[in-house]
Amino acid sequence: MTPRILISNDDGIHARGLAALIGAAEGLGELWVVAPEHEQSATSHALSLHHPLRIKQQEERRFSVDGTPADCVYVAVNHLMKDARPALVLSGINHGPNLADDVIYSGTVAAAMEGSILGIPSIAFSLVTRRTFEFAHAAQFARALVKAALASQLPPRMLLNVNIPAYPPLKGYQVTRLGRHSYGADVIEKEDPRGRKYYWIGGTGYEHVKEPGTDVTAVHDEQLVSLTPLILDLTDAASLGLLRGWTIEGFTQQKT
Ligand code: MN
Repeated sequence: MTPRILISNDDGIHARGLAALIGAAEGLGELWVVAPEHEQSATSHALSLHHPLRIKQQEERRFSVDGTPADCVYVAVNHLMKDARPALVLSGINHGPNLADDVIYSGTVAAAMEGSILGIPSIAFSLVTRRTFEFAHAAQFARALVKAALASQLPPRMLLNVNIPAYPPLKGYQVTRLGRHSYGADVIEKEDPRGRKYYWIGGTGYEHVKEPGTDVTAVHDEQLVSLTPLILDLTDAASLGLLRGWTIEGFTQQKT
């Protein structure tokens, strides 16, 4: 049976990276595309609970939604495709990196995360560049990875975060953990023509910690694709004991 593959992104239905991912998955399954009508980068895992969503059918099995990436996957799985769930959710290819704690802010990862929450193995793809976007080598890797995923027995909540170096040739890939990086924390203050202050956030610099086995090091220093499996349980197991040792006056701790 042909597997159904749902494709979404956060750069919007007209993004070149989405077209590249659709091309990459061509022939590997019955492709459904449900993507935001407008760019939704850095919207994280927002869901539109307080306004209605409009779905526009672009062509057969292609829809745009005036919502977030998570909205797209939600309406795709629970409504548009409810007769048969997708075997795989793909998101991207993002125009820019989603490394280290970028994954917390990323709309690209959020679309995949929504798939994982709904019990469908999901993969997020990002191209690590801020300037020119050449997707051919990224699409080539994505196709090979999707083939490998479809040939495997996948855990239902598998969530894979993939970052691809900006330019070919790729030296291969590495299974990594999230690394650490920083964009700087500047808040730039300016004045508008009416004399009112406004602010730009988002930082201006970039530095990453060079640690072997991390996504940032694999991609930036070794020209490798990074494959990082993510888990949605954010519980800090190491701090459970510390917290249990606290005394909060006037309140009794119920031990687990
Ligand atoms: Mn984006």
